[in-house]
Amino acid sequence: MSVHHENQLREQISVLGKSLFDRGLTMGSSGNISVRLEDGGWLMTPTNACLGRLDPARISHLDEQGRQLGGDAPTKETFLHMAMYSERPRSQAIVHLHSTHSVAVSCLPDIDPHDCIPPLTAYYVMRVGRLPLVPYHLPGDSALGDAVQGLAGKHSAVLLANHGPVVAGKSLEAAVYATEELEETAKLFLLLHGRNPRALTDEQVAELEARFPRD
Ligand SMILES: [Zn+2]
Repeated sequence: MSVHHENQLREQISVLGKSLFDRGLTMGSSGNISVRLEDGGWLMTPTNACLGRLDPARISHLDEQGRQLGGDAPTKETFLHMAMYSERPRSQAIVHLHSTHSVAVSCLPDIDPHDCIPPLTAYYVMRVGRLPLVPYHLPGDSALGDAVQGLAGKHSAVLLANHGPVVAGKSLEAAVYATEELEETAKLFLLLHGRNPRALTDEQVAELEARFPRD
């Protein structure tokens, strides 16, 4: 990977992080973004960093094993990203947020843990697909990584109970778009909750899955 390309990715993480922050999808120092590098390493947003004010030069650079090579210390949620990547060799980027509507859905008592949000729109199916719930764990608990890893092979996005979504994509832009689609669909789901909305049928979902594979 050229230094030029790596610098472009650092810049892109900062620009998209600010965009997410400016629109209220992430607050304080929560949320983190990672990108796979061609040499097998990763760029990872630093611990205690606000996504709205990232310094591209200080984004953590990790080697293939997740060891820090440069930049600031990586987010303490690095293990969530590694758990997803380990089962998704084609995924190039991951976004994890504590975005309000997605977290709200993750706290509801009556959601289907195998499919938290019904297929309300075609774009939700295309960008997110079937979203499983990962049971609550203490932040940093390695068992949380194991639980995410167990689902990541079949799902490009998972929802951590009482915590937030972890979303993979075939590019950083795709991962960000999928996270935004998930957050907006969570909002729709909450608006429609209790109103018995008409979701897409199994046939309509299957048609979308076949036509628009994610990664
Ligand atoms: Zn988190």
